[in-house]
Amino acid sequence: MNRTNAIQAYREALQYIPGGVNSPVRALKSVKETPLFIKKAHKVTLTDIDDNRLIDFCMSWGVFILGHAHRPVNESIRKAVAYGSSYGAPSLQETTLAKLINRYFPSMEKLRFVNSGTEAVMSAVRLARAYTGRNILVKFDGCYHGHADHLLVAAGSGAAQLTQSSSAGVPDTFTAFTVSLPFNDTEAVDALFRERGEEIAAVIVEPVPANMGVIIPEPGFLQHLRTVTEKYQSVLIFDEVITGFRLSIGGAQQYFDISPDMTTLGKIIGGGFPAAAFGGKREIMSLLAPEGNVYQAGTLSGNPVAMSAGIATIEILSKDRFYENLEKVSRSFFYKLSDIAFYHGMTVNHIGSMFTIFCAPTKINHYEDAKRTDQQRFGKLFRHMLANNIYLSPSPFEANFLSSAHNEEHLRTFLYVLRKFKA
Ligand SMILES: *Cc1c(COP(=O)(O)O)cnc(C)c1O
Repeated sequence: MNRTNAIQAYREALQYIPGGVNSPVRALKSVKETPLFIKKAHKVTLTDIDDNRLIDFCMSWGVFILGHAHRPVNESIRKAVAYGSSYGAPSLQETTLAKLINRYFPSMEKLRFVNSGTEAVMSAVRLARAYTGRNILVKFDGCYHGHADHLLVAAGSGAAQLTQSSSAGVPDTFTAFTVSLPFNDTEAVDALFRERGEEIAAVIVEPVPANMGVIIPEPGFLQHLRTVTEKYQSVLIFDEVITGFRLSIGGAQQYFDISPDMTTLGKIIGGGFPAAAFGGKREIMSLLAPEGNVYQAGTLSGNPVAMSAGIATIEILSKDRFYENLEKVSRSFFYKLSDIAFYHGMTVNHIGSMFTIFCAPTKINHYEDAKRTDQQRFGKLFRHMLANNIYLSPSPFEANFLSSAHNEEHLRTFLYVLRKFKA
């Protein structure tokens, strides 16, 4: 594969942009490759600046569940932008999208739009703390909730222990109220609540973690979080930035039939534009300025172009048995994929239309398991797939996504190339 232009472009980008990228994983460092420089995307095909055509299984980290440049979505974007791209005043599109989201996420009785998942989580946590008058935030190892200071805590050593940030530049005191526990470990949750339950403002969780590779919640784990947070009157926040409108039209909360107090959404709801949302129970959301005294704001929040892209996307998702069809195609693909992976001594975790190939033969159930997989071998796998024009999410700790634009031929090609992997 010729990457001459990409190598040149990377060299130039490095002069002006740290690492040459505007989000670290894009640098492809962990898989020892030159970053992709994309010039266009259509359906599931990425075309790079060397005119290589790649079948995409990252889909902009799960944003494009309909495929890239989906025509009806693009049409509504074009119409919207012709009317101006930001007003600094409300538009009807904001209420339309809020109503649509509320229809499928009834637990989000009220919601507010922001520009990124990071912002959505920051604001949800602030509200949860204001609502409860408590400080401690419980998260789970390997779950990613954006890059706010107090959420950059990946690992805790022991249940009740306060943890350190996984980033430089974050004062210890900023993370002093964040406790991270192992995912799928109800005993660790119980132990912490027994000791400090009265101080816990919120438990935030990716209901299906997808930022340490896809991890499947054990039966009862999420329900247990619901029960214990109810008992101690802590706020349960589902971070559905990935799973929202991915696992089902009503996200993981519909899929598992659990109603959280608050929810964050992102990725799919912006239809490829920067939009995210946080919402939940009316009495919590009414604490938000200007109704209440929890401050939060945004120059471009509720941007009319992003809202239009989101509305167009969700309208399509709500029709024609969309999720049933996507899941059917996915299931048959994962069945064959798991077989080939097994032959290579790998494990596939999958649910709905998302999957991760772990380079380890054992069950991967939480962050410690994921960290023990063979990351060198994953690098080899990634490079093998790329050399054969298949773009996997470029890290062993990321999810891959199918869209309604992936057809039998794309999936067959994927399986064929994976079968030929030697290492
Ligand atoms: C992507 C992601 C975020 C952060 O969203 P950004 O828009 O990148 O800030 C938060 N939570 C989860 C679960 C995510 O996958």
